[in-house]
Amino acid sequence: MIRTRFAPSPNGQLHLGHAYAAVIAHDLARARGGAFQLRIEDIDGARSREDFVDDILADLTWLGLSWDGPVIRQSAHLTRFAEAGERLKAMGLLYPCACTRAEIAAAIAEHGAVLGPDGPIYPGTCRHREVSPEGAAWRLDIARAVALTGQLEWTDEVAGPQIATPQMFGDVVLLRKDLPASYHLAATLDDAADGITLVTRGMDLFAASHIHRLLQALLDLPVPVWHHHPLLVEPDGRKLAKRRGSPALADRRAAGEDGPALAEMLRAGRLPEGLAVSDYSGVPVGARNR
Ligand code: GLU
Repeated sequence: MIRTRFAPSPNGQLHLGHAYAAVIAHDLARARGGAFQLRIEDIDGARSREDFVDDILADLTWLGLSWDGPVIRQSAHLTRFAEAGERLKAMGLLYPCACTRAEIAAAIAEHGAVLGPDGPIYPGTCRHREVSPEGAAWRLDIARAVALTGQLEWTDEVAGPQIATPQMFGDVVLLRKDLPASYHLAATLDDAADGITLVTRGMDLFAASHIHRLLQALLDLPVPVWHHHPLLVEPDGRKLAKRRGSPALADRRAAGEDGPALAEMLRAGRLPEGLAVSDYSGVPVGARNR
């Protein structure tokens, strides 16, 4: 049975782009007799808010989308992230990094930037130096990890078969200084633990799947299929954002708009307010800051 999920971070109100993503994840599951899960990615205590969680549940219900099982809270599984971190450390694949953003920027300015999907990659400053693990972040030694797994493949059901190229990210942070994990580690572990077989999300996270595939191989996790969907974009082609005037779903709901009718429009590709769907290759990867 297929199992999809919608995994919002409760650090703001949902907008039409989220509604579009939720409708896709929900409908893919329903069309194939599968299950649809709701996971709240709330490990960032400084940015997550309970009132946003309440809004997310109310928005999805208003849209007519029902999820299966309890709402999953990412923050309930912190030991999962720590255990995986310990395992990767024991494999010699993580190293502590004490660099500040300013130090990283200075090293890049000095030695030149290598561009990855999320911007210039980490220049490797701490890879070969003694760093106290106290208060440090932990980075994945990507070259060692890739040497260990060999070539990996994964499949996006829209874009087709892919050869994993996680090297393009450089040594990503897996355990953040300030949080129990990073997005890459937490999302990969949770998708596995929750039995997600079809990872649906926006194409701005397409490149991230190369890293997630590597983590699955390193941690002996099952490998799902991915479905990266296009994004809703403004008439000028830029990714939809609330700050550019797209109203929150909560505001539409409060204004008495018909939620199921809106979901139906999104399904049918009849997009309100001059919005468009990005073409599959049109949006630069790394639109998000991880
Ligand atoms: N929590 C992530 C976000 O809101 C989504 C992650 C995912 O779908 O993998 O950007």
